[in-house]
Amino acid sequence: MGFARLKRCAAIRTEERADLDLDGLRVPCLLRRSSARRTLAMRVDACGRVVVNMPLTMPVDRMGEFVHLHRDWLRRQLNQVCRAEEPWRPGMLLPFLGDRLRLAEARGIERAQLHADCLQVPDIAQARESVPAWYLGEARRQLAARLQALCQRHGLPLPRWRLSDARSRWGSLSVQGVVSLNWRLVKASMAEIDYVVCHELAHFRQRNHSPAFWREVGALCPAHEVARRLLRQNGRLYFQF
Ligand SMILES: [Zn+2]
Repeated sequence: MGFARLKRCAAIRTEERADLDLDGLRVPCLLRRSSARRTLAMRVDACGRVVVNMPLTMPVDRMGEFVHLHRDWLRRQLNQVCRAEEPWRPGMLLPFLGDRLRLAEARGIERAQLHADCLQVPDIAQARESVPAWYLGEARRQLAARLQALCQRHGLPLPRWRLSDARSRWGSLSVQGVVSLNWRLVKASMAEIDYVVCHELAHFRQRNHSPAFWREVGALCPAHEVARRLLRQNGRLYFQF
């Protein structure tokens, strides 16, 4: 165990809700403080929530200055999240298994179907329903296959699992031992999917996020740090619908 990990465990952390003032617009945010932090950082998560990380004892005024300084960036980030409300149109790109599908309308078909790298739908006006329905079916197949393959590879029993529609989490493990995987994961690359599956499998041994838990994740998924970073970067894209 590295020294950095030990130090991180000893850090004092707090979390509270706050409002940011973005040139008169009230923006709710999650303010996370940690004694291990030295600098202020801000990000917008997939649900359009602003998360501010700051040192434990830094005065809250500093956050206001920081937001003011980065207001253009913040507005851009928030606008991107809101773009999920854009109308569906032929030619738009849809993330799928780490790649992109092009949305197209095709007369005479009954439901959404894959044709080369095009996702064809019978009626673009109904895409808001037909596209997620197609993804849900794919998620059921693809995620089941990954779960099975990873359990087999590591000699683990196949757990019960279900798809989830959570707005802000990729997976979870219930006390009854049922793994939930967000159907939107099927938009991500295999590396990202494998990381989330392994994360939940590791929770069977460690029901926490301790260094011991991360060692379990590392044993199941050696590339988990890269995958985790990718998922954080791409999360907003995957949550657009
Ligand atoms: Zn976890």
